[in-house]
Amino acid sequence: MANGDGYEITRRSALAATLALTGCATSAGSTRPRTDIAPLDAGAPGRRYVLRGGAVMSMDAGVGDFARADVLVEGERIVAVGADLDAGDAVVVDCTGCVVMPGFVDTHHHSFETPLRAILADGLLRDGEPNYVGEIIQRFSPLYTPDDVRLAVFASAVSQLDAGVTTVVDISQIHNSPEHTDACVAGFAAAGQRVVMAYNPPTPDALLAELGRLRAGAFASRDQLLTLALHTGIGVEDARARWTQVRDLGVPIVSHVVGGAFGPSDGVATLARAGLAGPDNAYIHCTNISEDSWRAIADTGGHVSIACPIEMTMRHGMPPIQAALDHGLEPSLSSDVECTMAADPFTQMRAAFTLQRALVNERALAGEESLPALLTCRDVVRFATLQGARDAHLDDRIGAIAPGKTADLVVLRADALNVAPLNNVPGAVVTLMDRSNVDSVIVAGRFKKFRGGLLDVDLGRLLADLERSRDALFARAGKTHDVFA
Ligand SMILES: [Zn+2]
Repeated sequence: MANGDGYEITRRSALAATLALTGCATSAGSTRPRTDIAPLDAGAPGRRYVLRGGAVMSMDAGVGDFARADVLVEGERIVAVGADLDAGDAVVVDCTGCVVMPGFVDTHHHSFETPLRAILADGLLRDGEPNYVGEIIQRFSPLYTPDDVRLAVFASAVSQLDAGVTTVVDISQIHNSPEHTDACVAGFAAAGQRVVMAYNPPTPDALLAELGRLRAGAFASRDQLLTLALHTGIGVEDARARWTQVRDLGVPIVSHVVGGAFGPSDGVATLARAGLAGPDNAYIHCTNISEDSWRAIADTGGHVSIACPIEMTMRHGMPPIQAALDHGLEPSLSSDVECTMAADPFTQMRAAFTLQRALVNERALAGEESLPALLTCRDVVRFATLQGARDAHLDDRIGAIAPGKTADLVVLRADALNVAPLNNVPGAVVTLMDRSNVDSVIVAGRFKKFRGGLLDVDLGRLLADLERSRDALFARAGKTHDVFA
């Protein structure tokens, strides 16, 4: 199909490719169409399919879990969940041997850094050379062309979809010009990931000019995959000047909060005292923040996103999972930057799970008696799905499997060599699985990945273009590309 981006291939060739990979099983003896190819026109109004026979982990208290059940989708929405559903003439997608669950939500990712993957694998946030601030923010970011941005965020979105991340809060601090912003929008739109694009004003005056343009254009409706947020710092003057412009429009605000290294530990408390902190604020990292700031986040209904692997490796400070929980705040999980760490949900979940338990276990071994609860696998799945949806302000539509919710779903292979036999669904997802288990990925009812293969993407061309973009960025930076540097 044509989409102006050039990376989608025709539906016919996508189906042919899928058929070539999987073979075509037909439904002998059944009156219902059964498919081993992605249901045609899935997500379109009135089109129905049923995910049949998987272990369904709904993350919805009213729906619960099923060792074996069906999820019926019509158009973009889930219409029924249960065992042995009468799905009428809906196309049957066999999910035997699989876990069916809500798509993963990454609440903080800098998608524009895809061409710079692993260039700071050993790097720190601001200490040493090269460091993140100097290399990414100061050296490379100003060198991006709009086309680099479009390509980078498209590649990021496709890669995250492949890994089961159906929603991302993108903090692409790459809105160097309106053309860069438009390229960001175009890249995400072509990929079909659900994206909260956190606009990062390059100058104090840019917000006012761009907000009106974006709200009238690419973000005219909230009922679409792309929605708008604002990314700024948490200085009181900044907040007074900029936040009031977006709050009345229902645009949420997301901010990095790194106490000690990048700002005062009391920053959120100061905001709250000025009456500027609210439930539309999400705070990223929250490392080394004061007790008053934690109370301020909790008291004002704020949200917390924690990027465990990045915070541990890049010297942001200890990921504050326990501090958040101690203040009644469930964190969501975020990948942050692929210049330093992978952006798949399994990496985030395992890091959060093992870190919180390691810290509590040390306290237990030291003889402490009054201990917080150890995180369970189910807790961590919730952080990565439902809580992510809450922190992205999208939980009215995604984050759980329930009738009426939008069908943002993943199907994970539990009959694979690294997982079988399936003995514990949340345990298998958190402690055993990786992106190789992501069988199928659905966004707004539409299959983006089916039976292990991405749909509608010319991967060969994408990867070649990504390499060319990387080469051009390095050339503009005056750097020699050396894969062992
Ligand atoms: Zn970040």
